[in-house]
Amino acid sequence: MRPTYLPCKPSPRHRATPVAKAHLRYALAVVTAADSWASSARARKVMQGNRARDTKPELAIRSVLHRRGMRYRVASRPLPGLNRSADIVFRSARVAVFIDGCFWHGCSDHYVPARSNSDYWATKIALNIQRDNHTNCQLIEHGWLPIRIWAHEDPDQAADRIIQLVKSRSTAMLIGPARRYPTAPTHHQ
Ligand SMILES: [Zn+2]
Repeated sequence: MRPTYLPCKPSPRHRATPVAKAHLRYALAVVTAADSWASSARARKVMQGNRARDTKPELAIRSVLHRRGMRYRVASRPLPGLNRSADIVFRSARVAVFIDGCFWHGCSDHYVPARSNSDYWATKIALNIQRDNHTNCQLIEHGWLPIRIWAHEDPDQAADRIIQLVKSRSTAMLIGPARRYPTAPTHHQ
């Protein structure tokens, strides 16, 4: 289990050391170099951080939500200034749902390190996780609630969680100012 988000601004205790910065620079260089051998369109898309649309778990969750009367946008950008799209977006409740693939987002139960080019893939997945955390932070800073669901989760249970959070946010928005919206982080299961 990993938290849905990390603080946007690292505390002084966690400030990147020169060594950590050098590691990140190295990691980025490795990814950039390795990207050049990724020739298939699908691989390139994934590496650019584009999320695959209409995956099986996503369709299953959307169908439960729809059956239960929820209306939402699909593959939409919650924040105009942020080039990240969420899989399911409830605009008026300001809830953005991401259904994360177990491999690409490093699920602790199902992520299996690749055998070939293992350094490349480990770095790539670490950068994806970092990017997810950054997306969560940006959303929270702008009054949104990010919900992260693992692709392995039960669609009915995931939909229950989403509905509960969307409804509680909608109710809170009718009665209180923005800072009272529930923004408690939700966790992967
Ligand atoms: Zn998983």
